[in-house]
Amino acid sequence: MSTVTAYAATSATDPLAKTTITRREVGPHDVQFDIHFAGICHSDIHTVRGEWGGVRYPLVPGHEIAGVVTEIGPAVTKYKVGDRVGVGCFVDSCRECSSCKAGLQQYCIGSGMVGTYGSVGKDGQPTQGGYSGSIVVDENYVLRVPDALSLEAAAPLMCAGITTYSPLRHWNAGQGKRIAVVGLGGLGHMGVKLGVAMGAEVTVLSQSLKKMEDGLRLGASEYYATSDPATFKTLRNSFDVILNTVSANLDLSAYLSTLTVDGTLVELGMPEQPMVVPAPPLVSMRRHLSGSMIGGIPETQEMLDFCADNGIAPEIELIAPDYINEAYERVLASDVRYRFVIDTESLRGE
Ligand code: NAP
Ligand code: ZN
Ligand code: ZN
Repeated sequence: MSTVTAYAATSATDPLAKTTITRREVGPHDVQFDIHFAGICHSDIHTVRGEWGGVRYPLVPGHEIAGVVTEIGPAVTKYKVGDRVGVGCFVDSCRECSSCKAGLQQYCIGSGMVGTYGSVGKDGQPTQGGYSGSIVVDENYVLRVPDALSLEAAAPLMCAGITTYSPLRHWNAGQGKRIAVVGLGGLGHMGVKLGVAMGAEVTVLSQSLKKMEDGLRLGASEYYATSDPATFKTLRNSFDVILNTVSANLDLSAYLSTLTVDGTLVELGMPEQPMVVPAPPLVSMRRHLSGSMIGGIPETQEMLDFCADNGIAPEIELIAPDYINEAYERVLASDVRYRFVIDTESLRGE
């Protein structure tokens, strides 16, 4: 076992504070790595604040993790000391079920995926995430960071990147497709970049026009404010696919009406409260309402390689760990351009 410095939440309301946690002994199939960077995902905030229920405090959030391997177990074959690696939202799953066998570990129907934090690991201990100096993970749940990607850019790809890449691929959002990304935050800005790189025509739907210049610079061809009711009139029956990345409740009926015949709204945001879905906008154009959760290990590696090959990286604001609480407030105020990434150097080797 090793002791590591980390930032933990101790309740739903107290600020996160510095603490120490232990990491398990490196097992035969385990990789230990020094965490260099950890992204702040809005899911960290939902979780810490108890919006999804069932939190066991203290909790160390962080599931957008990138760093360098420091130790490997004797049976490890995929990684060696010094390799640049990452970990996303899960660190284990049953490995036996049809989902796991298909590489869709995030949809494990056996025991369910083991979350990077807030779950129970195979050592029987609560899992603790990436706002910390190092981590021990089974090699089969570790990703390789391609040379062309910096570690700080790779970190947010582990969740924000794969969460938008996977539905874009699944719903074939390539050449000739018109897609909309709702909410220009951490997920949203990756959705725009990835959608454009796949050849789709991307429209941003944001609360205001404040980030319009950014949206167009990221590659969107159109940008609308959802606070303007004319937007929904203009865009009626337009999109093949909508990625809804908004962390709060929306009037889904207005957004559904912007889908064309057989179009699909993919819910990615996970607001605390249920949303109302009236039948008419779904029924009238044979529209689909769906959802998607992160992505499996093979697809996450494919996404990392795709980003490296296409020069795609998130836009990040690097912060020190003592800025985490302020960063949370800024994310909640939609004041993130476009992902906070914690430089965890001060948490290593203390
Ligand atoms: P984020 O950086 O905070 O981005 C969310 C964006 O939604 C904001 O930047 C804002 O964009 C818009 N927004 C926020 N509040 C709004 C409101 N009241 N009304 C309308 N728009 C609003 O968050 P994120 O990290 O991208 O995560 C987004 C959501 O996805 C969270 O609920 C998170 O838990 C969830 N998530 C899901 C998965 C998955 O696997 N499905 C993975 C990761 C995260 P504008 O300012 O442009 O309007
Ligand atoms: Zn996330
Ligand atoms: Zn499984």
